[in-house]
Amino acid sequence: MTEVTSSKMAMELEDKYGAHNYHPLPVVLAKGKGVFMWDVEGKRYYDFLSAYSAVNQGHCHPKITKALIDQVQTLELTSRAFYNDVLGAYEKFITEYFGYQRLLPMNTGAEGDETALKLTRKWAYKVKGVPENQAKIICCENNFHGRTISVISMSTDPQARDDFGPFTPGFITIPYNDLPALEKALQDPTVAGFLVEPIQGEAGVFVPDEGYLKKAYDLCKSKNVLFIADEVQTGIARTGKLLACDWEGFKPDVLILGKALSGGVYPISAVLADDHIMMTIHPGEHGSTFGGNPVAARVAIAALEVVRDEKLAENAQKMGELFRSEIRKINSPFIELVRGKGLLNAVVIKPHNGKFAWDVCLKMRDNGLLAKPTHDHIIRFAPPLVINEAQILEAVAIIKESIKELE
Ligand code: PLP
Repeated sequence: MTEVTSSKMAMELEDKYGAHNYHPLPVVLAKGKGVFMWDVEGKRYYDFLSAYSAVNQGHCHPKITKALIDQVQTLELTSRAFYNDVLGAYEKFITEYFGYQRLLPMNTGAEGDETALKLTRKWAYKVKGVPENQAKIICCENNFHGRTISVISMSTDPQARDDFGPFTPGFITIPYNDLPALEKALQDPTVAGFLVEPIQGEAGVFVPDEGYLKKAYDLCKSKNVLFIADEVQTGIARTGKLLACDWEGFKPDVLILGKALSGGVYPISAVLADDHIMMTIHPGEHGSTFGGNPVAARVAIAALEVVRDEKLAENAQKMGELFRSEIRKINSPFIELVRGKGLLNAVVIKPHNGKFAWDVCLKMRDNGLLAKPTHDHIIRFAPPLVINEAQILEAVAIIKESIKELE
């Protein structure tokens, strides 16, 4: 293997040999621990992205990496052609943890969403009685559910869609946080499900009005429509509760999880539902070579144990409140708005002096904190949930200093 000896060299290699499907901030990371990452030259940074909320438990958590190493040295992959001695225990653990009857294990978030779409359609035909090939799923404007063809068929973002058609039919798009629009769309008797992010993460951390999710759930129930929560980004303690839907005290019919289910060490996603929904899928109708493999099962149990044992939801709520109140104290022409829940936060940046959110991120990088703009004018701040008060205050000082340097 080519020995990478500098950040410059690593970036040149990616630039020359990799597809250009990302535009990374110019920093090359070589090590991570807890809330910190280090670059190739040994400079330390606060991680305020947490790999898009996949590293809620902090980098290289010893319990999670141990689970990975132990299992990978014992039995790594069997496929689902055979049983393995970890999956059943994982299924019991995760269903009890989240209060569902059954798990369908997958790998990535997009696959979790695809699985939920298939499951919902199947339920529509087998249980609800929708005529063949007519099931529809309601989705929201500005959603982000991943990158596969069916998932981008729901997208309203031209960058995600353009030149990737033709698209999968069967979706009805309504504005987010709009109950009358949902009520209207639900008049169609062929509607099977409503797929929604409890907070729209990629769109720029859009928090809906209080009560929206529960009322949307009630509307779905009144029309025998499944409420499908995509908690790939918001779930697993990120917003200050185990699930973002817990803030409104209801249980989605179908729950999609990903990212932090792995503590960042391995792609793991999950679809959870009760019998009357999940048992509509039979052998041979859906699956994945890697889904539910012994390593994933062990890692996910460890990742969820850490969230529970270290009380990460409580910490996310407390530290999130501190973060928002400290950021709101910064008086700067750059800061238009601060919003979020728990440790899923965003600052809307007003361009100033010809400088944009990207420039703020570059300056924060220089000062030792990593975050990434979403949509040009929004910076998401989502550190690992193990962050403590002193670290929040130091991070806010870096953000403040960086903004002041650009004013
Ligand atoms: N759903 C939501 C809400 C997400 O935020 C993401 C990724 O950011 C996904 C699905 C897709 O997950 P993955 O990139 O693992 O496919």
